Amino acid sequence: MSSDTNGNNINNNSIDFNEFKMITNVELIKNENKNQLIIEINKNYETSITLDYDVQLKDGKLFLVDDSLKKINRNRLESIKSGILNLISINISQNLINKTTKRKTYYIHPPIPLIGHTAFGLIDRGTNIIQVRGLSGCNINCPFCSVDEGRYSKTRKNDYYVDLDYLIDEYKKIVEFKGNKHIEAHLDGQGEPSLYYPLPDLVQKLNEINKKGKGIVSMQSNGMNLTYKLIDELEEAGLHRMNLSINAIDEKMSRMLSGSRDYDIEHILDIAEYVKNSKIHLLIAPLLLPNVNDEEFKKVIDFAVQLEQKNPQNIINPITNKKNPIVGAQLCLTYQFGRKIKKMKVWKFKKFYDLLKYYENEYKKKGIDVQLDTPLSKAFGNHRRKKLPSPFKLNEIIRAKVVLDGRVNGEVIGVAKDRVIQIINVHQNYEKLMGKSVKVKILRTKDNVFVGALV
Ligand code: SF4
Repeated sequence: MSSDTNGNNINNNSIDFNEFKMITNVELIKNENKNQLIIEINKNYETSITLDYDVQLKDGKLFLVDDSLKKINRNRLESIKSGILNLISINISQNLINKTTKRKTYYIHPPIPLIGHTAFGLIDRGTNIIQVRGLSGCNINCPFCSVDEGRYSKTRKNDYYVDLDYLIDEYKKIVEFKGNKHIEAHLDGQGEPSLYYPLPDLVQKLNEINKKGKGIVSMQSNGMNLTYKLIDELEEAGLHRMNLSINAIDEKMSRMLSGSRDYDIEHILDIAEYVKNSKIHLLIAPLLLPNVNDEEFKKVIDFAVQLEQKNPQNIINPITNKKNPIVGAQLCLTYQFGRKIKKMKVWKFKKFYDLLKYYENEYKKKGIDVQLDTPLSKAFGNHRRKKLPSPFKLNEIIRAKVVLDGRVNGEVIGVAKDRVIQIINVHQNYEKLMGKSVKVKILRTKDNVFVGALV
């Protein structure tokens, strides 16, 4: 026995939350006779449960206070403990909230397949790159976001988080299928990849697999969540390249383009310099929004060039046996379900590449050699590779089991033949369909990403 701060006896038969890797914090809020436990899962998520028992929380351990348990024998105590753990587990699967986006989040684990959806899992587009999407949800709200992400999204209603071990197991299977040579695991997605926890573990495990075949691990980031500590850990884990999105240098413009009051360009530029000085290759990825950030776009390229002059990169990409480019400029396009800035003009790629060529020549006149108009796919050694077979044909009518609510209203997620399918045209409540077998007409099969309509 030990005592709490009020001198009450506390039974040592406690629940030790430190034993659960995914539980990263626990808080206890006491009000009247109820105790509310707020449980943080993998840093970015939380769920809460209400307990009728008198409990104390100390150093991550939940103690059942003696007074309430005087008449309770040991067996009963054990069953209360497993009842609480059960409740937590149910809440993780049914009431998990993304702390960043405030959306309901589904914790993805077996047997839900990881191939088939663009919001989570793994995507094989028939090249040496495997896209790894451990989560959905973003910490900023860019007004041009192609997937309408962020806390203020008008269309996204659910998020997904994939269990680390499961993600790695399924990744291994794809690498085995494609052949472990020059594979690149690229962490991207409908959201900010750096919000994945534990990110260094994910990178390390992917790297352990890929480096056997001279492959690499790379990721995208908007930089907001990056810290010196996280960069150090990612460097240690073997991250090869960081594609850092920077769209403006000016404070006001950069904040406007992030759609977030908290966006701090000084922090991002500082982080860029820190990455540049590490063993991780820094690729600065500015997006041109014609008629919106034209001047700022050029300033971002200037920033990347200055960084390179201060500290020239010497990292060799094992896939190409060459150094990587330092800038990955992109042109903003408009998407049917994405956000748009009204003022933005839509450019043809030719015009964009001509502009990059012009900048390249301007740098050349100053004696600076910088590659801007090279398609990144070539520069990074992307090449065609064996593609996972598609189990469905276009327009085929199949039966799928509904397993999850959809990413947006009017959708659910179904499973068939080891694939997940984004099922659209759903006019019934998800709860009514959950677990049921439904008829679906397959409307998209490209790259093993499946969309089907309920029939
Ligand atoms: S950082 Fe990317 S995912 Fe996030 S809001 Fe901006 S464009 Fe969308």
